[in-house]
Amino acid sequence: MDLDRILAEIVDEIAPHRGEGRVATYIPALARVDPRKFGMAIATRDGAVRGVGEADERFSVQSISKVFTFALALEKVGAKLWERVGREPTGSAFNSIVQLEAEKGVPRNPLINAGAIIVTDHLIEANDADAAIQWVLTVLRDHAEDQSIGIDEEVAASESETGARNRSLAWFLASFGHLDNAVETVLSAYFRHCALALSCRQLARAALFLAFDGEDPVTGERIVAPQRCRRINAVMMTCGHYDNSGEFAFRIGLPGKSGVGGGILAIAPKKGAIAVWSPGLNDAGTSTVGALALERLIEKTGWSAFA
Ligand code: GLN
Repeated sequence: MDLDRILAEIVDEIAPHRGEGRVATYIPALARVDPRKFGMAIATRDGAVRGVGEADERFSVQSISKVFTFALALEKVGAKLWERVGREPTGSAFNSIVQLEAEKGVPRNPLINAGAIIVTDHLIEANDADAAIQWVLTVLRDHAEDQSIGIDEEVAASESETGARNRSLAWFLASFGHLDNAVETVLSAYFRHCALALSCRQLARAALFLAFDGEDPVTGERIVAPQRCRRINAVMMTCGHYDNSGEFAFRIGLPGKSGVGGGILAIAPKKGAIAVWSPGLNDAGTSTVGALALERLIEKTGWSAFA
């Protein structure tokens, strides 16, 4: 299969749609991004990463970081993770608080904000947010094979300054005794991992282990156990796009995760990892043109899980 040709076709096909959707503005630093940007990259088993458009430009991965923190926390604490977070889709917005009270402070899944705050808490030992962030960075840098990957501190600060909703979620979780570390410590780690800046190429490469049973197919290093990898993919398929998850499965049929920076990560099991970036979002917070590009990709490759 000629993936370079396929990517070239996709960039032409989405061209009339560039700029569609609305850039996230609730994090002021994200509002400045050019909505016409588009990049896409595919990483395959041999470690080759093919890219098109602005595939080398770093963007704010936002909620896509939740996949990596989820994987690390699940591998760290095992089934204990499920005591404080579920694995059901919500049908609600990513930052919704509405189900939390009725469901006794147990967020529906690790890929919405409340669930990711629980997950972040599990990554932190002895109130040390910096060590947790360093761990996430090390994993991403090693598997994306780029030690320069870092956090956009301006985005992290911008989100923290306007972070009333996430603070509400975190304090509400704390009121149930569901955070082991101090609320502001957990939030500082949460805001920073959301502000990780990676290019499509780096993101696709770093996530390749999710397509190959939890093992980086290039280095042979295991990041998560195979049965956990299977479950992470299942949660991505059912919960990766908030109240848009059913629509995404319907159109694309791959485990995926959106972020309000306009990125989408999609996993094609046994084939590869795909990252796409286009900042304009639909109402649920999923990249409009990114989803379109992925739809084209699965039509051309037959990579849908249901092909
Ligand atoms: N950092 C963002 C937030 O917490 C992530 C949301 C997203 O990408 N959907 O609101």
